[in-house]
Amino acid sequence: MAHSKQYDYIIIGNGLAGFQLALALSKDSFFNDKQIALIDKSHKTQNDKTWSFWEKGNGKWESIVSKTWSKALFFSSKMELNIELAPYKYKTIQALDFYTKVTHVLKEKTNFDFIVEDVLTVEKTKHPKVITTNNFYNAKHVFDSRITEDYFSESDNFTKIIQHFKGWIIETKVPVFSPDQFTMMDYRLKDGDKTTFTYVLPLSSTKALVEFTYFTPTLVNEATYDSYIKKYISSILKIDTYTIVETESGIIPMTNFPFETYSTKNITKIGTAGGWVKGSTGYSFKHSEKKVAIIITNLKNNNNPSKNLFKRKYKFYDKIFLKVLNDENEKGEWIFEQFYSKNSIEAMFKFLDEESSLIEELKIMKSLLSLAFIKAFFKTL
Ligand SMILES: Cc1cc2nc3c(=O)[nH]c(=O)nc-3n(C[C@H](O)[C@H](O)[C@H](O)COP(=O)(O)OP(=O)(O)OC[C@H]3O[C@@H](n4cnc5c(N)ncnc54)[C@H](O)[C@@H]3O)c2cc1C
Repeated sequence: MAHSKQYDYIIIGNGLAGFQLALALSKDSFFNDKQIALIDKSHKTQNDKTWSFWEKGNGKWESIVSKTWSKALFFSSKMELNIELAPYKYKTIQALDFYTKVTHVLKEKTNFDFIVEDVLTVEKTKHPKVITTNNFYNAKHVFDSRITEDYFSESDNFTKIIQHFKGWIIETKVPVFSPDQFTMMDYRLKDGDKTTFTYVLPLSSTKALVEFTYFTPTLVNEATYDSYIKKYISSILKIDTYTIVETESGIIPMTNFPFETYSTKNITKIGTAGGWVKGSTGYSFKHSEKKVAIIITNLKNNNNPSKNLFKRKYKFYDKIFLKVLNDENEKGEWIFEQFYSKNSIEAMFKFLDEESSLIEELKIMKSLLSLAFIKAFFKTL
C-alpha cells in the first residue's frame, strides 16, 4: 500500500453533494491554496439519473438545465388540479451534463486531484485516513458521501419509507404531450391501497418520462413497475404506439434515520449519507446547494463544517409525516390532495424548501388536520 499526499480536504463521492461542494470550493478564492482530493470509484461518465427541482428565476445551473415547466398537474381519484407554478419553474438536469460541467471546471484547477478508487474505510483519527483498495490518503477534513451500514442494519428505531420508482422515457410518432406542463403526481392508477402514483415529465410533444413511484416501506419487483407504467400509458395517457428509448429506476430513503450524527469533528457526512435528502419528499438538489453554502461559510469562519446544517423544526414535521405514511400508508393520496388543493403552490414550495414562516406552517398543518396526524404527532413527541 503506497503512502500518498496529505490533503486539506478529501471529498469522497463525485455525486450531487460531492461535486456541488467541490465546485463551490473551486469558485471561492479563499480555498485556492488548499489541496483537495476527489475520490470516487466511478469515472462519472454515465447519465445515471435526472435531477428535477423547483426554483424562482434563474439559478446556478441554468447552462445545463435541459427542460423547464411553468405548469403542473395533480390528479387524485377525486380531483384534477391545474397548477400555475409562477413565480417558480420546475427544472430538470441530466446528471451527465452536471458531471461533465463540474469535471471540466475542476480539471482546470491545479489544487484539485481526481482519484478513481474504491474507498474501503475512513479512520477517525485527528487527520482522518482514507483507505482505498490501492492507497491511503490523509486530510485535515474529510467530506464523505458513503451511506453508513447502520442505516441498512438498524431497522427498529426509525421510520424507514423508501421512495422507489421505475420510469420509461417513451417516444411517440405523433405529438401527444403538452411540453409546458408536467404531472407532479397522478393517483388515478394505484397499487392497491399503497401510496403510489405516476410522475410524467414531457420532454417534448413526442417524448416523455413516465415513472411509477412508491412511497412504501418495502420494494417491489421490476415486473410490477413495468406493468403499472404500461397500464398508465395505455389507459390514462391513451397512447397505443410508442418506443421505450431509455429507462430510469431509483431508490431514495425517506426516513428520520439520524444520518447527520455520523459526522465527527474531522469527518462531515454529505449528501444522502449526511441526511441531505428531505425525509418527506426525497428531493435533495436544492437542499444540497444550500447546505454546501453553509459548509463554505463554516470553513471560512473556522467553524465545524456541519454547524447549523439543519433546522430542527423541519426534521420534526418530516418525522410526523413519515410516521403517518408508515402507519397508514393508504393516506398518501389524501395527504397530497390536501397539500396541493388547500395551499398555494408558493406556500407549499416555501415549506418544502424549509423557508416558511410559522404562520404559513400552521396553515399547512390545518389543511392536514386529521386523526392520523394527531396520532402521529403524539407518537412522535
Ligand atoms: C434515480 C434517482 C433520481 C433522483 N431524482 C431526484 C430529483 O429529481 N430531484 C432531487 O432533488 N433528488 C433526486 N434524487 C435524490 C438525490 O438527489 C440523489 O440521490 C443524489 O444523487 C444524492 O446525492 P449524493 O451526493 O448523496 O449521492 P450520489 O449522487 O449517488 O453520489 C455518491 C457518489 O459516491 C460514490 N461512492 C459511493 N461509495 C463509494 C466508495 N466506497 N468509494 C468511492 N466512491 C464511492 C459514488 O460512485 C457516487 O459517485 C434522485 C435519486 C435517484 C436515485
